[in-house]
Formats: sequence, C-alpha cells, structure tokens
Amino acid sequence: MKDKKNIEFKENGLVCDNTECDWENPNIPDGELEQWIDVECPKCGDNILTKQDYLNYKLMMVIVDEINDIDPNTLAEMASKIDPKALKDHPLFEDVEGLELLVEDPNKPLKMTINTHGTLKVDKITPVVETDEEE
Ligand SMILES: [Zn+2]
Repeated sequence: MKDKKNIEFKENGLVCDNTECDWENPNIPDGELEQWIDVECPKCGDNILTKQDYLNYKLMMVIVDEINDIDPNTLAEMASKIDPKALKDHPLFEDVEGLELLVEDPNKPLKMTINTHGTLKVDKITPVVETDEEE
C-alpha cells in the first residue's frame, strides 16, 4: 500500500456556476488554475472563476496541507472529540449530506466534495467505495 495522506486531493477542475450551463473542465493542474480567473465560460459567457473563488481554493489547499502535517493518530484523537451537532452549525458544513459519516468511524475513508464558489463549503460527504479507489 502506498503512503497514505490524511487528505488526498483527487479531482481538480472547474464547472460553470450557471445552473443552466453544463460546461466543465474536470482536469486542470493546480498550477494552471490561476489562468482561469475571470475567464468567460466558453459556452455561456459567465465568469468561470472569480478571484474570490480562486482565493477560496487556495485557502482550501492550505487547510489540506495543514491537516496532512498532522500525525494520523493525533488526527483520529481530534476527530473523536468532534461533536457532529456543533459541526452542523458551522457555515462550512451547513446542510452537508453525510455529515454523520465523519464521526461514525474515524478510520473509514471518506470522500468530501468541496465547493469553492462564493464561500468555501463542504457539499457532500460520501464513503469511499472500494471500486472507487485507483488501481
Ligand atoms: Zn457556462
């Protein structure tokens, strides 16, 4: 098994925020995201990535790095003290699907879908299914 990080960043991409538009580019290398700031959507002309959205993304990457610096045992200990009800009241986790999974079993890998549009927010938490794992 490869060296596991606490958080692994899997997908990097952009979607158009216009609900009536389905433009997406699911594969943009981290270093190239900045080039998409204030670019118009090729399909509908909406702004693909505002400066604020980009800053949200950078903030998220900083958080991911910080969490990966924490020893996994320490992290599990921290997680065991989290009150899911308190989390629900946090703007980051408001209305998130699958929040209970976070506290159910700290050793179970979870997939988080994070939205960086407008404000940084977790959209969805789902279990990582075996077949989901890369080869
Ligand atoms: Zn669009």
